[in-house]
Formats: sequence, structure tokens, C-alpha cells
Amino acid sequence: MIPAAGPAALDALFATLNPQQRAAVEHGDGPLLVIAGAGSGKTATLAHRVARLVADGTDPGRLLLLTFSRRAAAEMGRRVERILARLPGRHRPSLPWSGTFHGIGARLLREQAERIGLAPGFTILDREDAADLMGLVRHELGLSGRDSRFPLKATCLAVYSRAVNAEAALEQVLDQAFPWCRTWEAELRALFGAYVEAKQRQQVLDYDDLLLYWAQMMLEPEIAEEIGRRFDHVLVDEYQDTNRLQAAILAGLKPDGRGVTVVGDDAQAIYSFRAATNRNILDFPGLYRPPARVLTLERNYRSTGPILAASNAVIGLAAERYAKELWSDRASAERPQLVTVRDDADQARSIVERILAHREAGVPLKEQAVLFRTAHHSGMLEVELVRRNIPFVKFGGLKFLDSRHVKDLLALLRWIENPRDRVAGFRVLQILPGIGPGIAGRMLDRVAEAFDPAMALAAAAPPPRTAGLWAPFVEMVGRLHRRAAGWPAEMADIRAWYEPHLAEQHEDAAARAADLVQLEQIAAAYPSRERFLTELTLDPPGATSDEAGVPLLDEDYLILSTIHSAKGQEWTAVFVLNVVDGCIPSDMATGSAAEIEEERRLLYVAMTRARDHLALMLPHRFYTHQQAAAGDRYVHAARTRFIPPGLLPLFEETAWPPPPARPALGASNQRAVDIAARLRAIWR
Ligand code: ATP
Ligand code: MG
Repeated sequence: MIPAAGPAALDALFATLNPQQRAAVEHGDGPLLVIAGAGSGKTATLAHRVARLVADGTDPGRLLLLTFSRRAAAEMGRRVERILARLPGRHRPSLPWSGTFHGIGARLLREQAERIGLAPGFTILDREDAADLMGLVRHELGLSGRDSRFPLKATCLAVYSRAVNAEAALEQVLDQAFPWCRTWEAELRALFGAYVEAKQRQQVLDYDDLLLYWAQMMLEPEIAEEIGRRFDHVLVDEYQDTNRLQAAILAGLKPDGRGVTVVGDDAQAIYSFRAATNRNILDFPGLYRPPARVLTLERNYRSTGPILAASNAVIGLAAERYAKELWSDRASAERPQLVTVRDDADQARSIVERILAHREAGVPLKEQAVLFRTAHHSGMLEVELVRRNIPFVKFGGLKFLDSRHVKDLLALLRWIENPRDRVAGFRVLQILPGIGPGIAGRMLDRVAEAFDPAMALAAAAPPPRTAGLWAPFVEMVGRLHRRAAGWPAEMADIRAWYEPHLAEQHEDAAARAADLVQLEQIAAAYPSRERFLTELTLDPPGATSDEAGVPLLDEDYLILSTIHSAKGQEWTAVFVLNVVDGCIPSDMATGSAAEIEEERRLLYVAMTRARDHLALMLPHRFYTHQQAAAGDRYVHAARTRFIPPGLLPLFEETAWPPPPARPALGASNQRAVDIAARLRAIWR
């Protein structure tokens, strides 16, 4: 334990905080809510509060810190460390219980598994794997062939997930969010029942189960008491985006609210599509007797005055919110820009030009971000960046971990960890030439019943095409099962086995092999196979470069991110793609007034990521492939309804290329547009 710091040292530590922030940091242990707008220092305040608690002598191992992503948890750890480093003679505290609800849930469930009837060796399905399992079950129930209008596996999973996270009846979920699936209620109910059974049989949990089982576990008074007692404080960032299960978990941990601190901004609630509910943050104070203390922060430290004025105006038009106005003393003559461009191709070129100009002016690429509503919106820009040799990292649409070879290796690890995990097993067995779904299925049946998977496989007769490859495979499975090489050395064993298969399947095998070396390095940073799998499945790094100590790109690189994944972050220069109706608000989301309001908050979140420069891009037309009936086509686009004419004076309107300078290259520009269309069609 770290000894308590003297009052003078603490005073110096918190000298930069404003009085409201300081009040939050020094608050005792009654329940506390900090509700405030973007960039007002909520996360910074939380970090200072953690530092204050540690400096006061609280054991860092008794602090439970729940953040929105693993990246945010790591950042919080660094902030706390930086703050405490200013105290003389301090150790570097590690915060062992800092992570996402899902990550912490997975750890607690594994620890308590036997007490609650779970297999301790359970593995976790990511969303894609869960959808695959849903697909398998759907097929087994005969729901896939019978009528092609039956919802697709991803939709089934979305309905299921919504019902679980909102703790709502299926009927209600269908009425409110998936009315077009209403007629399938009985079949969906049967499907979900079978899906739950399949998960239990295979000893796998999907993401939702991590919260569901955790919440259920907290209903067992003895276990809840025991877990709650382990933590003196529970602190939650971004509380506006939690769902009912998460609120139930918090209530189970600390029923009387002692030691609970939550911070958030109702104006930034953007996850209702995953059943998050703003009610959690709004109702928080009233949960306790006496009610929780509520502190607000009004000063924005992040953005310049003009950026803040425009952001405030956009959110000011929201139908309903906890009113709060932010101010900033960061003067600037530069208003946020509304940049009109002709189309996607011009949007990409104009952004690249601006990014390079910023870099010339001393803003590194890492301090610049391009944000978008949907991951595929950045396709054209990605092509332009590659063409111009500008390195970038993309968050929200995962490239690295989605690739087939990386998923193959992870599946192998998962299957070894839990031989009943059928989704993983299917994938692994089918790496071998000659083995298809039928044979794989039969082999997995044998493995599921056996004590030792390698012995079960050794007894199976492989098809002739697989023959020579079978023994080395079975031997490797045996070594992994016995943990012969140990972690992380076994990664090298797996890679050596897999590489020849890679060469057979892919022309660019060398590049893919390099990814696997990278994966091995990432793996080495984790204490065990199980921790590696759990954490990677839960919150995969968008690219390897955000894994501490493993730089993928030494150089500077630009950030590309969905708005959803940009939460809580900030950059000197921010570009927002396609700020037009149809993209923001998305035409997938114009169903209800509530959905439209969420889209408005998304724009607010995007705009408030900027410190000094903000450009909202307005292409005149954009390419759409959402309406199956209408096919792919360009549609005319209009400025987003969230910036009505009355707000225009807060922006500087410009066009690119500037009208007189438009070169007489109509034909070649037209060609670029056609290429854009073709590229999109290929990616679909
Ligand atoms: P968001 O709503 O986007 O999550 P936030 O309210 O969590 O934002 P922070 O990210 O904590 O805000 O802080 C925004 C910026 O303001 C950061 O760069 C932070 O270092 C800075 N900041 C916060 N408080 C102060 C302060 N008292 N003095 C100087 N800078 C501060
Ligand atoms: Mg924050």
C-alpha cells in the first residue's frame, strides 16, 4: 500500500483543477454524479479522483474502474500515473481492476464459475462468432431454407441482444425496434431458446452473457456481498451509455451507493441501439437516500470558442436534455468550416490536402482525425491515403483482427482452451485441405465427448486428401492441450504449423505471415492464453499500434474512426465525413423521433472531439447501396438537418476546389468518379 500524502503535496497535485472539479475529487464516499458537457474534464476529474484516493492510502487493488473501452482504461491508468508521478517518491500504481464492464465481468465470472454453475473453462464468442452460431442453430431448426424472408442471422442476434440488454420482453423489442420481424415472434422465441441451449452445451458465452450472468450473479446475496466488499470505490466513466443490466450490476455491487462515482453527459448518449438508456444517468441521484450529490462542470478546456459555440448550438436544438451551457476561454478567429465538395472523390482529395497543410503547419498526423458515421464511409478516403502514401490507423472497422489468417489462429487457441466451442472448432478443422463442414461436424462430436481432444482426433480417420497433414496436426493439438511449451511460447508452435497452410491459400502469404508475427508479439504481453483470448475477444485493438510496446508504424499516422469509437477522445484537427441527410442522420435511423435525436447527439460528439480545427464535409452527392430495389446509385445530398440556416453564421462556408480554380478536367474527374463507383461495388 502507498502511504498517505500530506495535505500540501495534495494541494499542489490538484492546483490546476477548477473548484467544481476539485469538489468532485475531494468528495467523500457518498454516491456522486458528475454530469457535464463534452471536454469539461469529466474523465480528467475521474483520474484525479482515483489519484486522490490512492494518494490518501486506498489500495489501488480495491478500486473498480469501469470505462467504455479497453483503450480508455489504459489511458485512465496512464493519466493516474502521470498525476501521481508529481508526488515525491511515489511508486507507479497499477490499477488491476480497471476495464470495461464486459472485461471485468469475464474475470469475475471465471473466478466464480463453479459457484454459479458455469464451466470455468468457458470461451467467449465475439459478435461475428455469435452470429455464426445463431446461423447454425437457425439452420438446424429449419428456419433458413423454408422462407427467405426469415430475418438474417445478424438481425436475429441483434433482436436477441436488445432483449437481453434492455431486460425487455421479446414482443416489446419487436414492436419498438424490429417491427418488420413481428410476424416471426414464435419462431424467434424458439430460435433463441435453442441458441441459449447451444451456448450452454458448448460452454461458450457471448458478449451479452457476460453482463447477463454478472447481473444474475449479483442477485445471489452472498456472492454480491463478497464481491461488493472487495472494492472500496466503484467509478464509472461515460455512464450515459450504460444499459439496464449495467445499472443493475452497479446496484448489486454497492446497494447503498457508498463509494460509487459515475460521470457522463446525457447529450452524448449514442448507444441506444445497443440498449443503453439515458435513464440510468438521469435517475441516478434518486436511487439513494439521501439522494446522490450532483456536480456539474461548465468550463470546456478542449475546444476553441468558435468550435464550442457551433457545437453548443447544434445540441441546443435537441428536443430534450439536461440543460447545460459550456464556455471556453480558448479564443480563436477560426470558425468551424462547412466544406462543400462535389462527391466522395473530391471529399477524399480535399481532406488529404488539408491534412497535409496542417502537417506543414506543425500538426502531426496523430493529432488529426477523420470521423464518419459508418465504417464503410471512409473507403474512398482510404484508397486516396494509400495512393498518397499517408499512413493511417482505423478504429471502429477492424482490419487486422478481422482478417482470415488472424481469426484462424485465434480460433485454434480458443478451441484448445475449450474443445466444445464448435464455432472455433469448425474453423480450425476446415483449415485442413479435404475437410469440409460435414466431416468437421462429425469430428467435433467425438471431441466434445472425449477427455483429451488429441486422442479423440487420433482415433478418427481423416479423408485421403488430409492424410499426410493429419498426424502433425493431431500432435500439435496434443502439445497445446498438455501446455507442453507454455505461454506464450506455444504461439510459435502454432505459427510454425499454420504457415504452410497460409502459403497454400493466399498469394500474399508473406504479408499475412508478418501479421502473425505481430500477433505473437501482442500475445506475449499477456500473462496467459486465457487472458489473451478474453481481452482480445472483448475489445480488439483497432490496429496493433494501440497495443502498448508494439508499434506497428513507427512513423506518424492519421486516425480514422467511426464517431462511436471516437468517444472520449480529442484531436487538434477533426474532419467529419458526409455531414448530409442520409448519412447524419443515417437513413437507416430515421424511423423514430428518438432515433433522430440520437443522430443529433452523434454529430455533437463528432464536433466536440476538435481542439483547434474542425471541418464538416458536405458532398453534393453520395453513393448509396442500401436500397436493394433501387440498386447502387448516386443520390443528391443536402446539408444535415441538424445545421439549419439559422446556425450558418457560426460556420465558415467554403467549397473545394474553389470555383475559379476548377481545372478544365471534367473528363478525368468524371473518370475518377466512375472508379469510385467500381471500387465500392467490389467492396460490397
Ligand atoms: P468527453 O465528454 O469528451 O469525454 P471530458 O469531459 O471527459 O470529455 P476530458 O477528456 O477529461 O473531458 O478533458 C478534456 C481536455 O481538457 C483534456 O485535454 C484535459 O486534459 C483538459 N482539462 C480538463 N480539466 C482541466 C483543467 N482543470 N485544466 C486544464 N486542462 C484541463
Ligand atoms: Mg471523457
